[in-house]
Amino acid sequence: MTTATSRHVAIIGAGAVGVVSAIEALRDGHRVTLIDPGEPGGEQAASYGNAGWLSSHSVIPPSEPGVWKKVPGYLMDPLGPLAIRWSYLPKVLPWLVQYLLSGWTEARVEKTAWALRDLLKDAPKLHKVLADEAGVSELIERNGVMHVYPSRAPFDGDLGWRIRKRVGIQWLELNADEMRQREPDLDPRYTFGVLVEEAGRCRNPGGYVAALAAHAMAQGAEIVKAHAKGFRIDNGKLVSVITDSGEISCDAAVIAAGARSKALAASIGDPLPLETERGYHVMITDPGTGPRTSMMASDAKMVINWTDKGLRAAGQVEFAGVDAAPNWKRAEILRENLIGMFPKLPKSISPDRIKVWLGHRPSMPDGRPCIGHARATRDIVYAFGHGHVGLVGSARTGRLVAQLVSGRDPEIPLAPFAPTRFL
Ligand SMILES: Cc1cc2nc3c(=O)[nH]c(=O)nc-3n(C[C@H](O)[C@H](O)[C@H](O)COP(=O)(O)OP(=O)(O)OC[C@H]3O[C@@H](n4cnc5c(N)ncnc54)[C@H](O)[C@@H]3O)c2cc1C
Repeated sequence: MTTATSRHVAIIGAGAVGVVSAIEALRDGHRVTLIDPGEPGGEQAASYGNAGWLSSHSVIPPSEPGVWKKVPGYLMDPLGPLAIRWSYLPKVLPWLVQYLLSGWTEARVEKTAWALRDLLKDAPKLHKVLADEAGVSELIERNGVMHVYPSRAPFDGDLGWRIRKRVGIQWLELNADEMRQREPDLDPRYTFGVLVEEAGRCRNPGGYVAALAAHAMAQGAEIVKAHAKGFRIDNGKLVSVITDSGEISCDAAVIAAGARSKALAASIGDPLPLETERGYHVMITDPGTGPRTSMMASDAKMVINWTDKGLRAAGQVEFAGVDAAPNWKRAEILRENLIGMFPKLPKSISPDRIKVWLGHRPSMPDGRPCIGHARATRDIVYAFGHGHVGLVGSARTGRLVAQLVSGRDPEIPLAPFAPTRFL
């Protein structure tokens, strides 16, 4: 279906953000071309191997007051949950300064929390609708996620939960007995838990994105396997997207290339501070034990989620750039942590039952994505920088992209996500 205001929209990147944007743009009556050199939701995309949390309560940015005190530790311990490679330090330093400043005060963290709450609210429900439409309802579950702690003290001392309460998030607190009943195989050192019932999870993030892309194609989207390199703009009007296999004429474009969006925005005069927070996962098929509820461990700082291919532990933050080789010791640490949490897991597993992965969180220093128009032309829309919340955040981002492309009012205030906040 096309409407009088129908435009040809080229969407660069077929990760979660790109494919949901495609579906929502089609719903508005636009013609859509998705551009990606890889498979939609393929291993190259962060959307493939993330932890699968649809955590509408993940509103606290990674940088909080006092985090600067931990920076020396991040530099000294290359295998800690957050690490900065020495060789990459000069490159990442300006970004790190902005990161520390954006979380310098409680007020700044709370401002981001309110903004992210708008973006993420109802996300599990929105994803359920998308999954139903794409015929993969079984991939989205809405039965809560759990945070587990060795004691109540770190929870009580956590600014993040106090701010979550202020922005309207609710949860159940579980004592040691209640935890044991719910999670009999969890190591008994965990004696306190927080169950966030509004959150959901995805049982196969890569498969979900691939199914959404197939659904977009069934609705008329075209997919072009190419690498976008820049744009042709004439008198403030977009003419085409330039790719390594020719130009694609279009009258609107969306940059949704995840951690690789930076060069595309810079090519049209917007030097935005996008960095990759590299993360890892380890997957074990048929592990024989594990959590009943998807969970995050406060000490191991990783999420454990059942996928339809096995048990996945995902986490770690590594600053080393998009092109550096993976450090698979980090995936090994995830596996050790997993065994520490679920001692009944087999200590030795044949290699064919273990899969490891490295992915790139596309991160802005303040933990808020860039959603808005380019300065060079309103025909180009930015939809990148979702950091730790790009899967859960893709549902509303796609709707916002369609609203911007169609010239409609966005359904939430976009000022906190304006790319110009950094320019
Ligand atoms: C270990 C880990 C755990 C995570 N856990 C969660 C979680 O539980 N919940 C959650 O919500 N988020 C989580 N995240 C974050 C989430 O995965 C990302 O924020 C999200 O996937 C970003 O989606 P995207 O579509 O912006 O980018 P991507 O999924 O990275 O997709 C970008 C696409 O753009 C393509 N591309 C790149 N350059 C070009 C170009 N020049 N031309 C054309 N195409 C291009 C790529 O091939 C890729 O397919 C996690 C991330 C990691 C690494």
